[in-house]
Amino acid sequence: MNKKVRVRFAPSPTGGLHLGGVRTVLYNYLFAKKHGGDFILRIEDTDQNRYVASAEQYIFDCLQWCGLEPDESAIHGGPFAPYRQSERKAIYQQYAEQLVKAGQAYYAFDTPEELEDMRQQFKTHDNPTPQYNYEIRERMKNSLTLSEEEVQRLLSAGSSYVVRIKMPVNEEIRFTDMIRGEVAFHSALVDDKVLLKADGMPTYHLAVVVDDHLMQISHAFRGEEWLPSAPVHILLWKYLFGLENMPQWAHLPLILKPDGNGKLSKRDGDRLGFPVFAMDWTDPKTAEKATGFRERGFLPEAFVNMLAMLGWNDGTDQEIFGKEELIERFSLERVHKSGAKFDYEKAKWFNHEWIKKTSVSRFSSLVVKDFESRGLNVANDQRLEKILELVKDRCTLLTDFYDQSKFFFVAPESVDVDSIKGKWNDDKTTFFKEWIAGWNNVEWNAAALEASFKELAVTKNIKVGELMLPLRIMLVGGKFGPGVFNISELIGKEETENRLKTAIQFL
Ligand code: GLU
Repeated sequence: MNKKVRVRFAPSPTGGLHLGGVRTVLYNYLFAKKHGGDFILRIEDTDQNRYVASAEQYIFDCLQWCGLEPDESAIHGGPFAPYRQSERKAIYQQYAEQLVKAGQAYYAFDTPEELEDMRQQFKTHDNPTPQYNYEIRERMKNSLTLSEEEVQRLLSAGSSYVVRIKMPVNEEIRFTDMIRGEVAFHSALVDDKVLLKADGMPTYHLAVVVDDHLMQISHAFRGEEWLPSAPVHILLWKYLFGLENMPQWAHLPLILKPDGNGKLSKRDGDRLGFPVFAMDWTDPKTAEKATGFRERGFLPEAFVNMLAMLGWNDGTDQEIFGKEELIERFSLERVHKSGAKFDYEKAKWFNHEWIKKTSVSRFSSLVVKDFESRGLNVANDQRLEKILELVKDRCTLLTDFYDQSKFFFVAPESVDVDSIKGKWNDDKTTFFKEWIAGWNNVEWNAAALEASFKELAVTKNIKVGELMLPLRIMLVGGKFGPGVFNISELIGKEETENRLKTAIQFL
């Protein structure tokens, strides 16, 4: 690769950042880092109607959480600023004019009513929503059909107009996609997209081409849903820049529902927690406040790993990858052509694996915060770390630590004595009382406690197995948790004694 690699993620700040968007970020990021290139974040905010004020900050926060920080952006700065399209308005107008002068675009003066009339008039059974295309444009009010004087008159009278691309009537538009290979479109099937809107703002189509050119983007990776727009972008590249230095395109596969039946919709997305974070605004598309992966207790490392595997693998069975390893192994050639199925259960599996392999000091503060939000205040100290270490294999999500370790801090509210009552007898009561009485001569650690417990069981001729479950239930309230002697060690002598004595009263 001789040209400096420069890739971009170009979100429109219209709502939360979902799974598919972050995967696009990730593949851009990995590619850039692998090739010593730059990753640029450009805010495509030219659609004022769909603009959501807090969405931009949200996007930055999400990328920071994921550890996928851009090299250049509206916040990070950079040599190609501004990185917000709304601040680049004047630039696009000049290119739109250039296209009109060259006869590759035209002014269209049609009012919304006239456009609606057109749709009604040309609607047929086979074509229920007629497009403004090479045929229709001949019958509409634009600089192709009006006289030059009339066009000048309308312009100087300040009439509202848009600029549309003039799609060729009979041309094959081809390009090579890095994932899909050769792609061809027939120009007649593409409508005359608006390039510049009545408010003087460009549409996405014009802005994306102009900015990819000006920002010297070498590769443009985006979701497959943009493939139908590609012919317009290729033509604009040809008209404006003679195709010189056009980025190499890669359209990433769709993310599908777990059963593979169709594209993952926003609705499934919210149900399955697709936004990265909860949004502090109501999503305009769903009118709902969705919770995100972060709130559900995902580690960013796991989230990123899971996303990487949604449509890519390194050719082996390996599934667990850290970011550095992903950068080293990633290649676009191994991105699949077909859609990738998203499975929330699999996402949780990734998280579980990451919790197991991550040092608890990395996430103890997050756990402390989660505890706090549920009214349990604990210090983030060595004891906490020991506890988290002990239970982490049982936790799939960070939010699972609460149930798995609450009993280390407070005595269980209810103890399931019923499940041990049946086999309880006075010998067992005596056993526990004597075990407690013997602690004075036992060092307070799990190994010593276990040895004294087993020794006493032998002396009393009671099977250890019959004593372990009662001990567990007395300590934690139910049939769960890590090793009972580890629990005793960590909750301390006094608390262990209290819990055993309280439970025995009910037996
Ligand atoms: N602004 C487009 C979006 O919202 C960007 C598409 C592209 O990367 O070209 O996804």
